[in-house]
Amino acid sequence: MKLSHPSVDIRGLNPVMRKAMKVAERLWIEEGELDGITITAGLDGVHSAGSWHYSGCAVDIRNRYWDEAKRIRVHAELKRRLPDYDIVLHSTHVHMEPSDRLAQKCGLMI
Ligand SMILES: [Zn+2]
Repeated sequence: MKLSHPSVDIRGLNPVMRKAMKVAERLWIEEGELDGITITAGLDGVHSAGSWHYSGCAVDIRNRYWDEAKRIRVHAELKRRLPDYDIVLHSTHVHMEPSDRLAQKCGLMI
């Protein structure tokens, strides 16, 4: 696992994201990225209002080095391995955050 830039801030990440990052790391290595995932945003960056990034419950990981077919396939596989998370496919990255059910269980939502 590495950071795309020193300004990427993962220090305040909620522990609920550890499992998602671990599973993604394994999958990325299986898919030929021997250094594992590259995190492009944690608590840093500009996101939509109310984004879970700001509370340390979301991570973006790079996928732009793959063609569209592979991005779609790996996204589907990541979703399959992480049913408790919402995984959103973008053209340059995959966004991961806990599902509402998991967030509720962890006391992150009222
Ligand atoms: Zn994101």
